[in-house]
Amino acid sequence: MQAAVVIGAGQAGLSAAHHLLRKGLRPETDVVVLDANEGPGGAWRHRWPSLTLGRAHRVYDLPGFPLGTPDPDEPSSAVVSRYYAEYERRFGLPVHRPVRVRQVVRLDARDGVGGGLEVRTDAGTWRSRFVVNATGTWDRPYWPYYPGREGFRGRQLHTHDFWSVEEFRGLRVVVVGGGTSAVQFLLQLEGVAAATTWVTRRPPQWTATEFDAGWGRDVEDRVNGRTSAGLRPNSVVSVTGLPLNPEYRRGIEAGTLVSAGPMEAVTPGGIRLADGREVGADVVLWATGFRASLDHLAPLQLRESGGGVLVDGVRVVKEPRLFLVGYGASASTLGATRAGRDAALAVVRADRVDRVVAAGRVGSEDGPDRAVTEVATDAAGALAGAGVGSADRTAGASG
Ligand SMILES: Cc1cc2nc3c(=O)[nH]c(=O)nc-3n(C[C@H](O)[C@H](O)[C@H](O)COP(=O)(O)OP(=O)(O)OC[C@H]3O[C@@H](n4cnc5c(N)ncnc54)[C@H](O)[C@@H]3O)c2cc1C
Repeated sequence: MQAAVVIGAGQAGLSAAHHLLRKGLRPETDVVVLDANEGPGGAWRHRWPSLTLGRAHRVYDLPGFPLGTPDPDEPSSAVVSRYYAEYERRFGLPVHRPVRVRQVVRLDARDGVGGGLEVRTDAGTWRSRFVVNATGTWDRPYWPYYPGREGFRGRQLHTHDFWSVEEFRGLRVVVVGGGTSAVQFLLQLEGVAAATTWVTRRPPQWTATEFDAGWGRDVEDRVNGRTSAGLRPNSVVSVTGLPLNPEYRRGIEAGTLVSAGPMEAVTPGGIRLADGREVGADVVLWATGFRASLDHLAPLQLRESGGGVLVDGVRVVKEPRLFLVGYGASASTLGATRAGRDAALAVVRADRVDRVVAAGRVGSEDGPDRAVTEVATDAAGALAGAGVGSADRTAGASG
């Protein structure tokens, strides 16, 4: 049995794997990383070429190996895929791909370690005492329902499937959604599309707030407030707002970034706005965001009535052997990096507690034996947050 299976090799999964190895867990023997992609890069490898590094919000460094200062005009998909590939290589991270996890199920208590989790994939099954889930959001594009959507005669696509505005040259495009992706699509469509219409449920949330560390903490606190109450995380833009930078100001002045308001329905030839206006369209581009990609965790029945998964930090309350990273407040490269570390430390600590319990059971007839005492001392240190890195695997080691 593994000590930890990490699902997903994006920013969150790589950070978690790095810290697990640093704390003394052995690649392959104790830790594996399972990733559904064909190659390195997480969600970034799928992002459209015009999303250059300079246009992305920011990609934070992974622990122990900085990104450096790549060309801001290079597509972020290429930059980040290269960076993650080098990161995996440099630290010898045990990434298996392409491996898609289909289900995670509970094992019965066994071996004196209180059971574990079984990770079922399209390339075999792994058993593990802990699972760090780092599956991001890219695989769960969110398409809101509007009446008439099925009857639209033109093309509909989601951000997930966007590649280049050239596909829309000379066409009338409706862009749905109030986030950064919608804004960037609209600006790129200027002078390419025959016409654009921006549909948002609420007025765009422009903000002049400076995106500094204090702002970042405030955003994290607000998202944590929801996920620690078992509610689904809100859309990114509802907590971050849209930064009023010079490019966006110009777009507003040009009329490109002025919302036509909410939509009531999709019609065969376009859309109908809530105020009754009909707008002809050849394309509806749904820039309506993503949801956490957690379908494979369904057998664990983690959802709360609020639609979210209740977490205490990164640990899932209903399944303490499971850690969610890149979820809610940690769904950014900065948050994912931190959450990966937190999950790795928590796994190492919990693993040691398991071993104390296991050793205690072995020696219970004559009272605690030497192994228990040794492991308990080790675990006490780990739980106190000190010396967590020592790689003592004498009792209850995985195998
Ligand atoms: C358009 C867009 C732009 C963004 N720009 C920024 C930005 O500029 N800065 C920023 O900080 N954040 C940005 N974000 C947020 C971004 O998603 C995070 O920053 C971060 O990259 C997410 O990392 P992650 O590791 O959580 O997920 P991902 O990078 O999505 O990695 C998840 C990995 O898990 C794998 N996976 C998923 N399901 C399974 C499964 N069942 N089995 C096995 N493997 C699986 C996937 O293949 C993938 O490799 C952006 C998001 C979007 C949608």
